[in-house]
Amino acid sequence: MAKARVSTRAFQKARDRFFAEGLKDDAPCWLCGQPIDYAAQPGTTDDSHELDHYVPVSVDPSLQYDPGNFRHAHRVCNILRGASPPKLSLGLHSRRWYT
Ligand SMILES: [Zn+2]
Repeated sequence: MAKARVSTRAFQKARDRFFAEGLKDDAPCWLCGQPIDYAAQPGTTDDSHELDHYVPVSVDPSLQYDPGNFRHAHRVCNILRGASPPKLSLGLHSRRWYT
């Protein structure tokens, strides 16, 4: 089971802003490369948007609020990834790496 993260108002604001950016750019999921359903409320369906952390918060909590560490992801992809580094051998579609 994934541990619950600390969720603060500051983080929720950052998350909302990040969602708005993804919506504007129609940014795909960084884990599977597929379009994200921005019409759905974030975090409500498998295809809806979730803010993923490139460096997991469990690895470096100081990066939780760093927008440079934010990635657009499907809720389900974020859940499947958990707190692990992205796996390269899942056989998913082409992915975009942001470095
Ligand atoms: Zn995805």
